[in-house]
Amino acid sequence: MYDVAVIGAGPGGSTISRYLAKAGLNICLVDKDAFPRDKPCGGGFSQRILDEFPYLRKRADDFLKGIAKVGVLHSPNRRVILEGKVDMAVTLRTDFDNVLFECAIEQGAEPIVGLRAKSLRTTSDYSEVYLSGGKSIKANLIVGADGVTSMVARNTGLNKRWPNSTVTACRVVEVPATNDEIIERYTEQLHYHFFANLGELPGYAWIFPKRETINVGLGIVGTHARGLPSIFNAFVKYLKKENLLMEDSDLKKAKGALVPTNGPIRRSYANRCLLVGDSAGMVSPLTGGGIAYAMKAARYAVPVIQTCIENSDFTATSLEDYETAWRRAFGNEFKEQLLAQKIFTSPFTEVLFAIGSRDKKIQTMVSESMAESSEQGISITNLVARTLLVCLKSAIRV
Ligand SMILES: Cc1cc2nc3c(=O)[nH]c(=O)nc-3n(C[C@H](O)[C@H](O)[C@H](O)COP(=O)(O)OP(=O)(O)OC[C@H]3O[C@@H](n4cnc5c(N)ncnc54)[C@H](O)[C@@H]3O)c2cc1C
Repeated sequence: MYDVAVIGAGPGGSTISRYLAKAGLNICLVDKDAFPRDKPCGGGFSQRILDEFPYLRKRADDFLKGIAKVGVLHSPNRRVILEGKVDMAVTLRTDFDNVLFECAIEQGAEPIVGLRAKSLRTTSDYSEVYLSGGKSIKANLIVGADGVTSMVARNTGLNKRWPNSTVTACRVVEVPATNDEIIERYTEQLHYHFFANLGELPGYAWIFPKRETINVGLGIVGTHARGLPSIFNAFVKYLKKENLLMEDSDLKKAKGALVPTNGPIRRSYANRCLLVGDSAGMVSPLTGGGIAYAMKAARYAVPVIQTCIENSDFTATSLEDYETAWRRAFGNEFKEQLLAQKIFTSPFTEVLFAIGSRDKKIQTMVSESMAESSEQGISITNLVARTLLVCLKSAIRV
């Protein structure tokens, strides 16, 4: 029997497995796919992750595909542009997740890959996970790091399903490109682009240029996402017309995926189980970014799990401290981001862009938030205060 069975080897699952294995616990890390494997994603994250998880810096050459230094934000009718300095690392998830996975295995986590976790049974003495192929594993505790479609969240009743309004349906592709093709369009500073409310639908689109590829994606809130592939095709056509993409771009590998964008679920723990990352909805409702949150939550879970093991107590009550810790650290960020999402998908977005275009500080604040570059995340209070100030200054001048 394992101390902990971690289901899902994305950023959340591999990070928690690494720390728990390093602490000497008996861990298995289960994934339905063999590694390296791809995960549909933009692949952008704050460079601060490399300081917070220093073992990654040593492996940066294996996954870092550049640093975007400038953010370019397009208004819904694409007539107004905001621009600001940022510091966003870009990666390919195939490489990044493989490095995280290898770091976990190096520390002693036992990999069980190519098998899907199909269901879960919890008794008073252990939890048992049934895998495809007929095998099952027993552990004192299960970590559900199995992403947005989490079996663990469903089976424990922590999240039976995502209502359409709480997820964003995406389409994304890494377009292969030469260095010249990338520099010509995005400069040496790798300007990244965000498009608000494309076609007046609630959501956003993006371009993250990287070394050797240009990542193009689009996400629309589930309630409005019908016809997503044709909306994506129209977006690509527009990018080609604007010379932001090459005419002969290879888009064959475009994939669909969901991301939770309504903030975390109500509770991220139950008897003998806790959830990290997308399975618990730990994703910015503003940007759809969840890599950093999954990894940070994983680290907050580690001391709580160690205490459970020391006390041989795996009840929900003993896991409560995990939720308290991550909510204290970044729970409020989701509230601010959700509010910002509501504002940026409202009919006032165009007006707000027009006001923002007159003020460098607003442009920096918004660009940094979209690239998760600012230390404190988005502050709606500061943004509203600055917007009012800009309006007031214009009124005085008239
Ligand atoms: C189109 C798109 C673009 C995005 N862009 C960004 C971005 O630029 N920056 C950013 O920070 N975030 C981005 N995100 C969000 C980011 O991808 C997630 O927040 C992040 O991957 C969450 O990590 P995780 O470990 O919780 O889950 P995941 O990365 O989803 O990993 C879950 C793992 O569980 C495995 N799994 C699932 N079910 C089972 C099962 N039943 N049995 C066994 N294994 C299973 C999967 O194979 C996978 O390896 C994007 C998301 C999408 C959809």
